[in-house]
This record gives sequence, C-alpha cells and structure tokens, in this order.
Amino acid sequence: MSSIRPWRDIARRKSRQIMVGSVPVGGDAPITVQTMTNTLTSDAVATIDQIRRCEEAGADLIRVSCPDEDSTAAFRKIAKAARVPLIADIHFHYKRALEAADAGAACLRINPGNIGSASRVAEVVRAAKANGCAIRIGVNAGSLEKDLLEKYGEPCPDALVESALDHIKLLQDHDFHEYKVAVKASDVFLAVAAYMGLAEAVDCPLHLGITEAGGLIGGTVKSSIGIGNLLWAGVGDTIRVSLSAEPEEEVRVGYEILKSLGLRTRGVRVVSCPSCARQGFDVIRTVQKLEDALGHIKTPMSLSVLGCVVNGPGEARETDIGVTGGGNGKHMVYLRGVTDHHVQDDGMIDHIVRLVEEKAAEIESGAVPSMDSLHGK
Ligand code: SF4
Repeated sequence: MSSIRPWRDIARRKSRQIMVGSVPVGGDAPITVQTMTNTLTSDAVATIDQIRRCEEAGADLIRVSCPDEDSTAAFRKIAKAARVPLIADIHFHYKRALEAADAGAACLRINPGNIGSASRVAEVVRAAKANGCAIRIGVNAGSLEKDLLEKYGEPCPDALVESALDHIKLLQDHDFHEYKVAVKASDVFLAVAAYMGLAEAVDCPLHLGITEAGGLIGGTVKSSIGIGNLLWAGVGDTIRVSLSAEPEEEVRVGYEILKSLGLRTRGVRVVSCPSCARQGFDVIRTVQKLEDALGHIKTPMSLSVLGCVVNGPGEARETDIGVTGGGNGKHMVYLRGVTDHHVQDDGMIDHIVRLVEEKAAEIESGAVPSMDSLHGK
C-alpha cells in the first residue's frame, strides 16, 4: 500500500493474525497466495514434485487433500520435504484430521460441523492444539447444510455466513481461535456478498476464493473480478485462485491479482501492448518468450515491451527496462526510463533477459530502487 498516490491506497480490514506454520495470515501480514496439489497424495514423489513447482512459482501455503489413510501416511514424508507450510484438506473423516495433524500439517481444512459428534470435534481441536495446527473452515455454496438450505430456500449470502458462524462457534466453544474462514461460491455476486457479510461479523482472517471458477482464461477473469473486488474493498488475508489448470498457474494468477492492486509484488511486472500494424517486432511472441524466460526472477521490477513509439517511450519512462519497436528491425532499449541503446531483432530476447537479470541483481543489492517503488506501485 502506498501513501505517495492516495488514490491507489487500499485500507485493509483489520483482522486478527494467526500462524499457519511459520507463515502469518491476517493482521498486517502480506496477503498470502495458496494453491492445492492435484496429484494422488499417496504418491509422495509426484506430490513433492508438484509442491516444488508451486514453491518455485511463489506459493506461500499449499493444500494437500487427505481422502484416505494412505494419503495421511504419505503426508508425513510430503510435509518433511515441503519448504512451505502444508494444509491438509479433510472432508468428513475426522480421523484423517487427527492423522494429518500428527503427520505435520500446519493447518487442517475441516468444517467442524460436518464431522459428527461433539466428542469428535473435541478430539480434532485437541489434536490441532497439540500439534500447533491452525484450522480453516471452508463453507461452500455447493455443500451447504440441509437445515440452512431449508431455512433460506437456496444458497444465499446470509446462509453462507450463518453456516460459517455455526462452524466458528464449535471451535470457540473449545477455546480454539487459530482459525480462518472461507465462504466460497462459484457465483461472484454470491461469494462477494457472503464475504462482505462475514467480514462485518467476525475478526478472524478470511481466505478468499471463487470456487469452481473454470479454466485458465474464464476462471482467471472470474476470480479476478470476485477476489479483486473483495481485496479492493480491503477484505481478504489469503487467496486461492481455483482453476481447472495446473496449480502453478493458480499461483501465478494469484500474484497477478495482488500485483494489479499493488498489494504484493513479486518478479517482473510486464507492461506490453496488444500489437498492431505499427509494431516493429512480433510483440505477442516476444512477450510469450520473455515471460517464459523470466519466471525465475523473484525481485519486484518492471519491463515494458511495446511495438512502436506511439506508447513505447511513455511506458518505458515508468519501467526499469523498456523496449520499443523501431523501423528496419532496430529497436530502442530504455534503462530506468532513459534511452540507452539499440537492439536488433536477432538476439533481442536473450539480450533483454540478460538486462533484466542484471537489473534484478542491482535492485536486490539495494544499489538502485525499482521504478515501481519510486512510483508508489
Ligand atoms: S504501442 Fe504501437 S504497436 Fe503497440 S498497439 Fe500501440 S500503436 Fe500498435
């Protein structure tokens, strides 16, 4: 959040902070990005491989489902190998929660109202407390309790909030307060209204998500609108973008949402034009190749890639590195907003990658601030 440009400021809802393993969630902690593995958890090798890719993409927390005993047995090995805290996803089988807590889960995703008797809830809370686990309550419009559906007639914001409050009460009755809550729906209006209602009613951290949002493009748009609206209103402490796509993509989209709102920075922010007949080089292919080649850069910085001088110099003025298409395959490179040298079509990608790596090292060492930090982005 910046005070240099007040029209950029987002006033975050003040939530209570909890710890998910070593990662703080809520309060003034950075908004965390989560994803979930889709390998068989019982296949520890495949799951650890996928976790590694998600960690590389920047996942702060990773959820792993535990549908059976084989999964919780493998969870111990997976949790040992993971570099970020893991959340065990449990539905109905409270014994899996006990096993996962014991096997190194930093958080249990479980709805206490769905696991049966009060003694089972007490056992899960005892296991969570004994192992230092947080709990995430995950209300979902698709699996609302029958009594609430009867009371409200259909999934609606009040029904989702009431369900969340019911689950919360069960934890509070056991003097357990290390919880965060989600009230997800695949309908953005329903999800946003439910989260806004819940944000008023409780002080715990909120986990945001638009559930079953769809494929990479449709789901990204839907999640950006739903999660983006809530974050813009200051609501939300951790996010998971649900896509029918690889989990690393969810992490990338999560960061892009946070970057767009200036809530978090990571890696290269690319400014690029859609290209048109004026382009001096193939902007689309160049940007695709650059994004692939720059995924390893974690330092927050910016790169503008524009096809011609119509908007190129203006965008380059605000970015750490800029390239603007010129005539005859000769393009202008800007460093920190100032024209610096020309580059030819041949070898342009490698050249820009090298410049970005050098600039990232400079920014990282503190030798120069990033242009975004100067502009309050
Ligand atoms: S910057 Fe130039 S090439 Fe890119 S869309 Fe605008 S006019 Fe076209």
